[in-house]
Parts: sequence; C-alpha cells; structure tokens
Amino acid sequence: MIFGMFGKKPSGSSGGEDHDEEEEVDLVSFQGALNGKSADLQANAKLAQIGLIPAKEFVTDALSRRAELVRIDIKGEKAQSTLSVDGVAYAGSRMPRPQAVAITQIMKLLAGLDPKNKASAQSGGLKSDYEGHPWEITVETTPQAEGVERLTLRFRDLKAKLTTLDELGFPGFVRQKIRERTPQRKGLVIVAGLPGSGVTTTTFAVIRGVDMYMYSCMSIAKLGSREIINCTPFVEQEGDSLAQTIARVQRAEADILFVDPIKSAEYAKLLVDNCDALTLVAEMPAKDASAAVAQLAVWVGDNAKVAESIQLVLSSKLIRQLCDDCKEAFRPNPKLLAKVGLPPETKVLYKKGDTPVDEKTGQEGEPCGKCGGIGYHGRVAMIEMLEGTDGMREVIQQQPTPDAIKSQMRKEGMQTLQKDGMRLVVEGKTSLEELQRVFSAGAS
Ligand SMILES: [Zn+2]
Repeated sequence: MIFGMFGKKPSGSSGGEDHDEEEEVDLVSFQGALNGKSADLQANAKLAQIGLIPAKEFVTDALSRRAELVRIDIKGEKAQSTLSVDGVAYAGSRMPRPQAVAITQIMKLLAGLDPKNKASAQSGGLKSDYEGHPWEITVETTPQAEGVERLTLRFRDLKAKLTTLDELGFPGFVRQKIRERTPQRKGLVIVAGLPGSGVTTTTFAVIRGVDMYMYSCMSIAKLGSREIINCTPFVEQEGDSLAQTIARVQRAEADILFVDPIKSAEYAKLLVDNCDALTLVAEMPAKDASAAVAQLAVWVGDNAKVAESIQLVLSSKLIRQLCDDCKEAFRPNPKLLAKVGLPPETKVLYKKGDTPVDEKTGQEGEPCGKCGGIGYHGRVAMIEMLEGTDGMREVIQQQPTPDAIKSQMRKEGMQTLQKDGMRLVVEGKTSLEELQRVFSAGAS
C-alpha cells in the first residue's frame, strides 16, 4: 500500500484543515485528443463540472508517483485504483462509484472517444503537460459485468530519454563487444526481449553505441516517433526484395543495416540468407538470448546457416533500482552468500529501506521523499550477451536447444541475465529480493 505515503497533494483538492502544510502541486493540463477530435466541454457541461478536476487530480497523483499505468475498477458502490510503478502494481486510492464513473467518462471525452458508449471496448489517447514535460496518455475502457467499465490510463513522458549504453548501465566489456561485432559487415546482431522488457530501448542503444565516425548505419526498420542520430533512414525502392535493398544499402557504403523485428520464419530465413555483406541488427521477441537462437534455428531449419550468421545476441531485462536515499546496507551472513553464489568475502549488500517507526508511539514516520516509501526508484537493465564464438557455433550446429546454448554460454563465461543481476546486487544497485522477484515473475 502506498496510498497516503506521499507528502504531496494536488492543489485544488477540497481543502482539509491542514492544507497550509501541503506542498502545492500543479495539476496536469490536458491538451487535446490524439485522434484530433475536440472535446465539447460545453455540450457536456455537467460531466465537465463533476469530472474534470477529479480526473486532473487523479492523473496528477499517478504522475507524481511515477506510475506508468493506472487503472480504476468499480465494485458495487466503491471503486479501487491500482497503480503500476516500475512494473510493480500497488493499490491506489479508493473512491465512491460516482466519482470513478465521472473520471472514466471525462477521460473518454478528452481522448476523443464516445462517453455514451459503455458497451464496447474503446481506446484512444490525449496530449498533456505535466511539470513542463509533454506526456502522452493512452485511455482504454473495457466493459465489465453489470454495465460497469474498467478504465486504464498509460503514461509516456515524451521527453524521457534512456538512450545510451552508459545510461542503460551496460558494463564496459559489453559496450566494447558491441563496438567490435557490429561493424563486421557480416552476420546478425539480435536484441532479444519480450514486449515491455525494454527491448526496443536496448536495440536503439546498441545502434547508438556504434562509432558513428568510423561506421555508417542505415535503417529500414519502422522507427515510429523515435529517431537515431547516427542511423540514416534508407528509403526502400518499391518492389525491391530484401536482397536488392541490401545491395543498394551496400552501394551507399553502409556497414550496418537496422531491420524490422524478427517475428516470422519467413523473415528469419530472409535475414539469415542475406547477411553476408552487411551486419543486420534486429530485435526479436524472445525471453532471452538462448531462446532467440533456438527459435531462429527452428524457423530457418538450417542449423549450420544459423550458426554461421550469429555475431551477437543481446538480451535485456529491466530490474528496479534501490532508492539511493533510503536503501539500507547490511552484512550478509556466510550462509546467504553461499546460497546465492557470492564470494564469502562479500562484506556489504543493500536492501530496501523501511519507513521509520517511532518507538514510543508505534506510528510510522515520514516516508522517504524520493521514492515515497517504495524503496525503489527507476529501473536499470540487466544484460545478457551471447557471442558467435567457434564453440558456440558448434553447439548451434549440433544441438540448438536453449539449455545447450545456455550451458555453452556459462562454459565460455559469457554474460547471462542472472550473472548480470548479481553484479547489480553486489554493486548495491538492486537487492536480492528484487532479483528473485524479477526471475520468478512468470514469463521470465
Ligand atoms: Zn527512498
């Protein structure tokens, strides 16, 4: 439970007696639907009157807690909100049903959706501004039983950047390997990750990690609203095959070509067949590096070809960072160290800090001002790196199963997600509890 742990309260809240002590917070401003439909607040004056300020307060509260997602579920006469902060769900505020309905309806109106339609799922979005940053808010409603709707809002800070390998927390030798392997003008560099794991951010960071003064990178991947400074978009000629496009890119003297994600056997075959003149960089939905290579072998159906094509397969997984302001150091006992496989001389590890409790009154004190008592603030990527060494190529050719590939990675001392997670624990960036949570959370 984190509700009520934050000292901030949006301005414009119905005034409590102690409002003088509250820090004034500017409310988010809503700036128009993404679909261009303008919200007619005059025609919906009553809804605007009862819903607009509560909706602004609700969204401001979620943003001030760094939530990436917030949901309202109505049950009977009450409604409960749930926030997701750095990928972890927390119970949010409770509110009376009419307020939840008003917030849902006004958010639909503001996102250019139809407030009157409660029977079908709708989704849209709106532009907004919070603390001087442009934000995009996605609005989704899903009909539930008894004419009730569930509202889900997703927030994206359009100015947030997590763009370079350094910022992602990649260790130096990983950056070095990327710089060595990407400009070889041959083979595949794959970034594997499940949706939501930060795989696209990692892929972009890999491309940005290429030395732009020495090597030229072009892209035929759909980049959406993102751009990569050192990668030039290449306009494909209509009707050209991938092989023809690659030949053109080659004539334009590029070393690296950023291509679309590998999602089908057909596309996988195309890439493997056409990676002998340029390094192709692509992301691939797979839970880790070994799973990606095993899937590639199944799709392509030619182990030798796949083995030959693999330069580097990276995989990343996000893990929450301990809050620097409140994390607590502890001396781990030898048993714990042996259990998690850390050297016995490890003197200090860190864990999430607890909100102080007054010994006399038993009351909780002020929570940490930075993380609001969650104990974590922001996320950092764990990274895994499979390299196309001679030994690895042999394994891929003989027996490309995830287990065989993983065991070869360990044998050759390659970086694995687990190993990198442990590095973050030893560096005090995250906790053993968080590491355990991330690896036991279903899909991982
Ligand atoms: Zn903190």
